[in-house]
Amino acid sequence: MRQDDGSSPIEGQGVDINITAIERNLRLYGLPAFLLLLGLAGVALIDPSAPPASQIEQVIAPIKRIVFLGAAALAAVSAVWCLWRAGLEYRWSRGALDGGCHNCSGPMRHFDGRYGPYSKCLMCESKRKGWH
Ligand SMILES: [Zn+2]
Repeated sequence: MRQDDGSSPIEGQGVDINITAIERNLRLYGLPAFLLLLGLAGVALIDPSAPPASQIEQVIAPIKRIVFLGAAALAAVSAVWCLWRAGLEYRWSRGALDGGCHNCSGPMRHFDGRYGPYSKCLMCESKRKGWH
């Protein structure tokens, strides 16, 4: 008895799905995570309350404070951005999100291309003409 129903091997499919998920996570969280790390590094490296040891440090002290505050704000905004993206992905994975993508109904980002406006899916990167 031979069963030949033409089903494809599960292993191959699994690998494909994993790669797509990693790519999607990089697309979703890559930039906000990078900015978050950048902001946290700035907060960790800059000590705005350190007493200026030299005249040059006295001059750059206000700049240091501004950069420190900027890094802290960047870290906060990026953290919220990460959470926002995580919420999007959660709703999308449960099918509760009705984005404009005709491929996976994911949320779309709007762009102005050379040939007019187009949308790109955040989840599967498929493109569509016009804004959806
Ligand atoms: Zn999609």
